[in-house]
Amino acid sequence: MNIQRTLKYEADKVPGFGREIMSVPGCEQLNDCIQCGTCSGVCPLSIYMEYTPRQIMELTRSDFKDEVLKSNTIWLCASCYACTTECPRQIRITDIIYELKQRAIKEGKYPARFPIPVLAQEFSSMVKKNGRITEMLLVMKLFLKTNPFAAMGNWRMGIDLMKTGRFSLATEHIKQRGELGRMLDAVDAKKEN
Ligand code: SF4
Ligand code: SF4
Repeated sequence: MNIQRTLKYEADKVPGFGREIMSVPGCEQLNDCIQCGTCSGVCPLSIYMEYTPRQIMELTRSDFKDEVLKSNTIWLCASCYACTTECPRQIRITDIIYELKQRAIKEGKYPARFPIPVLAQEFSSMVKKNGRITEMLLVMKLFLKTNPFAAMGNWRMGIDLMKTGRFSLATEHIKQRGELGRMLDAVDAKKEN
């Protein structure tokens, strides 16, 4: 895979970003990283990543916010925890990457038309609104926001799935969806404080 990396300059930094991430429970040990590279060596997906897990740890604590949040690395992480298990400094790499994903979604900083963050965002907003997901709507939104041409190419399959009852156009929801929405808002507000 041909991955292009560019030189980084002091001016690219967003001072305080590393400290912000390290203030999140579970991410405190980031500063103990000795850059041994064990995490990158055991990661089954590092060969496809723009930056390896070791590089992401260094870029994060060194305040290279945009490089980290806009990289494909955090979205390719499959949360297998191999890196976290093997890290000699007990750094919770997977949890740090998870926190970075949340930041990227919140700030809308992710690779353009990359499906994973769009799926995560649409999934959570549907659950928050209805308490359930409606697969048909979720798939349609994902295609429209990432690759509308693929949606056109798959319309026949969509109709076949609807005919067999595998896809429904009806929006599914739980009974007290308002309460669930308020609970999730409260959790979000607590996290921000
Ligand atoms: S394995 Fe741990 S100490 Fe080594 S580079 Fe990765 S995060 Fe840093
Ligand atoms: S948790 Fe993510 S970064 Fe760590 S080894 Fe697994 S895929 Fe790689």
